Amino acid sequence: MANSLPTASRPRTPPAGHDHEHCIADALAKAETICERHGARLTPMRRRVLELVWQSHRPVGAYDLLDLLNARGRRHAPIAVYRALDFLIERGLVHRLASRNAFIGCSHPAEPHTAQFLICERCHAVTELEDKAIAGAIRAGASHLGFTLAAHVVEAQGVCATCRGQVLP
Ligand SMILES: [Zn+2]
Ligand SMILES: [Zn+2]
Ligand SMILES: [Zn+2]
Repeated sequence: MANSLPTASRPRTPPAGHDHEHCIADALAKAETICERHGARLTPMRRRVLELVWQSHRPVGAYDLLDLLNARGRRHAPIAVYRALDFLIERGLVHRLASRNAFIGCSHPAEPHTAQFLICERCHAVTELEDKAIAGAIRAGASHLGFTLAAHVVEAQGVCATCRGQVLP
């Protein structure tokens, strides 16, 4: 176990070739549970948008989501997609990646967290890194400067293990 990562730093994105249908089913089941717990309604539209965000582990833009929604012959307005995304973000089910102006499903929405994102420049896969030390350092630095932190998102670009042909332990 010499090079094993601490649990909190373990990449959350499963490797290529995994059973992604399971990821989608899992995300939808977690969303149902969270909405129920908060007395919120996972309407068919919100559910469908979440399902589409989860089509892959790559970030997807709002207009791509709109195209996918309207592919079935429907004519949804952009505002409907944005409203559904706002709801999903508020519930922690989806994260917004500012550097891509795109959205990614959260794999562990039940636990409150401040995540860091590792974005692969080759395959665009996004891995969520949840390192409490990074979040703590930003909080401490902000507080040192008398800055009241509302929220922060760390986005890092690079090349993922799959693209480097490296097998993770
Ligand atoms: Zn998957
Ligand atoms: Zn997350
Ligand atoms: Zn990659």
